[in-house]
Amino acid sequence: MEKFVYSFNEGSQDMKNLLGGKGAGLAEMTKIGLPVPFGFTITTSACKIYSDKGKLDDEIIKDVYAHLEELEQVAGKKFGDDKNPLLVSVRSGAPISMPGMMDTILNLGLNDVSVEGLAKKTENDRFAYDSYRRFIQMFGDVVMEIDKKKFDEVFDGQKKKVGAEFDVDLTTEDLKAIIDGYKKVVKKELGRDFPQDPMDQLMEAINAVFRSWNNDRAILYRKLNDIPDSLGTAVNVQSMVFGNTGNNSGTGVAFTRSPVNGENRVFGEFLVNAQGEDVVAGIRTPQPIAEMKEAFPDVYRQFDEVAHILENHYKDMQDMEFTVEDGKLFMLQTRSGKRTAAAAIKVAVDMVNDGLITKEEAIMRIEPDQINQLLHPNFDPAELSSAKAIAKGLPASPGAATGQLVFHAEDAAEWKKDGKKVILVREETSPEDLAGMVAAEGILTARGGMTSHAAVVARGMGKCCVAGCSAIIVDEESRTMKVSGKVYKEGDKFSINGTDGSVYAEEIKTIPPELSGNFATVIGWADDIRQIGIRTNADNPRDAKQAVDFGAEGIGLCRTEHMFFEDERIPKIRRMILADTEEERREALKGLLPYQTEDFREIYKVMGERPVTIRLLDPPLHEFLPHNEAERKQLCEQFNIPMEVIEKKTIELHEFNPMLGHRGCRLAVTYPEIAEMQTTAIINAALDVKKETGIDIKPEIMVPLVGIPNELKQVKKTIDETIKKIFEERGEKLDYLVGTMIEIPRAALLADEIAEDAEFFSFGTNDLTQMGFGFSRDDTGKIISEYVDRGVLEEDPFQSLDQHGIGKLVEFAVQGGKKTRPNIKLGICGEHGGDPKSIEFCYRAGLNYVSCSPFRVPIARLAAAQATLRNSENKN
Ligand code: ADP
Ligand code: MG
Ligand code: MG
Repeated sequence: MEKFVYSFNEGSQDMKNLLGGKGAGLAEMTKIGLPVPFGFTITTSACKIYSDKGKLDDEIIKDVYAHLEELEQVAGKKFGDDKNPLLVSVRSGAPISMPGMMDTILNLGLNDVSVEGLAKKTENDRFAYDSYRRFIQMFGDVVMEIDKKKFDEVFDGQKKKVGAEFDVDLTTEDLKAIIDGYKKVVKKELGRDFPQDPMDQLMEAINAVFRSWNNDRAILYRKLNDIPDSLGTAVNVQSMVFGNTGNNSGTGVAFTRSPVNGENRVFGEFLVNAQGEDVVAGIRTPQPIAEMKEAFPDVYRQFDEVAHILENHYKDMQDMEFTVEDGKLFMLQTRSGKRTAAAAIKVAVDMVNDGLITKEEAIMRIEPDQINQLLHPNFDPAELSSAKAIAKGLPASPGAATGQLVFHAEDAAEWKKDGKKVILVREETSPEDLAGMVAAEGILTARGGMTSHAAVVARGMGKCCVAGCSAIIVDEESRTMKVSGKVYKEGDKFSINGTDGSVYAEEIKTIPPELSGNFATVIGWADDIRQIGIRTNADNPRDAKQAVDFGAEGIGLCRTEHMFFEDERIPKIRRMILADTEEERREALKGLLPYQTEDFREIYKVMGERPVTIRLLDPPLHEFLPHNEAERKQLCEQFNIPMEVIEKKTIELHEFNPMLGHRGCRLAVTYPEIAEMQTTAIINAALDVKKETGIDIKPEIMVPLVGIPNELKQVKKTIDETIKKIFEERGEKLDYLVGTMIEIPRAALLADEIAEDAEFFSFGTNDLTQMGFGFSRDDTGKIISEYVDRGVLEEDPFQSLDQHGIGKLVEFAVQGGKKTRPNIKLGICGEHGGDPKSIEFCYRAGLNYVSCSPFRVPIARLAAAQATLRNSENKN
């Protein structure tokens, strides 16, 4: 028969799923001989039975009785006894630490008889009656679910009656009166007496813990944190020890190392003459653990030793709870300690240096997303603690920013010139806001999702961004915005947190990122392990440099359109778009050629022999057109084009579905001269830099949005012919590749055919997701989050690659590509290239590299190493 109840000396850490984290920890500590008050654990399997049947089987109840008898023997005390009563705590504990379930019940077993026993034994009436009244109150609240206020009324009433200012002013007689009052509350609310039989108390408490597994708070927490409902919680029943018997007792919580910076010394808090709940509830301010050393030198020494034993045993930093009863130490909990990124890295490196763990283990200990904290400026925690967020949007690009509100990109640039720090607020951003985004400390938008323009560009720049903050109503015209009815105007000081999406209507100090030596060490270890390359998405030398500094091994995506948005260039591209004939268009393109060539030269110089994938022009042309009257007028004057022509062209170029319109390789197919100009710039720049530096520059020309094999065939012909001509003219040569993005589902399906012309594939998973799902990534942020809430989707497929669906397209294309061209180079350049889960998928799918924004490069390096380790673990 299945065993549902385990004494602490029957279990171990390996049984975490069955005993819960707390139960497994208590068993393990018991096993290695640490002082743990004895007790037993009722398993998570029993919780499942309770959830199914609404009650526990008689077998299980019998087993609980048997274990209680054992506990009485070990403790040498008896439940409900009038001389030496056994009191227990009833503690919930799921396999994964999970707030939201029932609180711990302390001092269970007290009744009208045993309270006398406790008083006699401790020679402390007041303590005994205070424990009893706390017990009824706690039990009434969490087990009987009686409104807390009813008990508070009784308590405050008594205080008032006797003129007591503080709780400690209440006498034993007062406490007895309160206990009577509490009992009456129970009788009135539930129509029955407060249970006097400790066995009844215990069974009620156990049932309440199991019941709480399915309360709303717990369900919500599991949903938010992807914890399966099927895990269940265990219940721990443990003999009480008392930290509140006097000044020779106390209780505390401690870490074996600092959870803030990883410093290797015990770190924690301690409270003399108190029970555990007092520390947690913040009723009294605890002292730093160092003071325990003063107050109880002997116990402290013992505790310090236990901390070392635990850390060496678990080979990880531990978070412990303990109590001292009359100078004797008892351990009540141990678990792996939560820590900041900085602490995680320091602890990992120190433990490797001390031979406690291997480099591989160290790599697996660090949460890739967490090291984001180290790569961006952050708010000063001291100031943040007193700040209050007025709204919350999507954490689109991490970091912290503080500055004055501006509502137009031009204003941002202008104010920045005047030496001011600004936060750019927009309904949503568009490519022409770029200069303003560069100038701003941070970007805040009211609309748009995690892959909206603002989000993608901000992440690329490593700039803090909160997107899709629907609580703000932006009025760009009047340069104001409204949040919960309050109006904020240009110049108001704001702070935004791109790491959690919070928006503050106040200035909060920021601190710059720190790349410590340990950080570089760990990432270096990751490089030795990982088997997938890490490139970056970079459009300019500054980003490229940043990425190389962070360890990027190439550029996986260099977008060329951003280069066109700069002040001097945009009129030239507009001229090109407005051209009626090929001749006019060629003329206009000639004006752009020197700029493009120069851009590429600079990027090549930064990248050296690292490969650089350059994507031909991708966005719909109309994005480049003038957006307002003033711009149209300027264009009309500069190039002497009649206004009617401009207006006519604007109408002509209008598209209902620009994302599915005249863009990508469709531009290169219909206007080959654009591809020619870009190719010329790419190759000339490469030859120039090769000549200058002697380094073999490795350009890779990437054709976007191919869905028809013939599209690539034709564009490749244009590219090859253009290059052939340049080589002939210059009498110089270099190696180059031509490849394509796989971002239209049809391209994935016909990958084998496309690979006849493509020397590499780069998966553009933003578009592939958009078109695979039929989700417009600019409009569906709200729908997707609702889908996630309603459980239609597990997560936003734009954040983490949908391995189940879109992943099949990727895998199919990999197969197809390799069939035709076994050595085809494979990469990913969508936003997913920086997402740890997606990176693991790419590794398994056999891609050669992932490409992500510069600021995610270190995260990707770490995640790639973890992917290798995790998958080799599985293979063993
Ligand atoms: P949580 O999961 O909220 O930390 P715990 O079950 O760990 O809840 O209980 C909270 C606190 O109650 C513990 O830190 C400890 O101080 C106190 N406590 C629990 N069990 C006992 C016990 N058997 N004896 C004394 N104190 C206890
Ligand atoms: Mg605890
Ligand atoms: Mg695309």
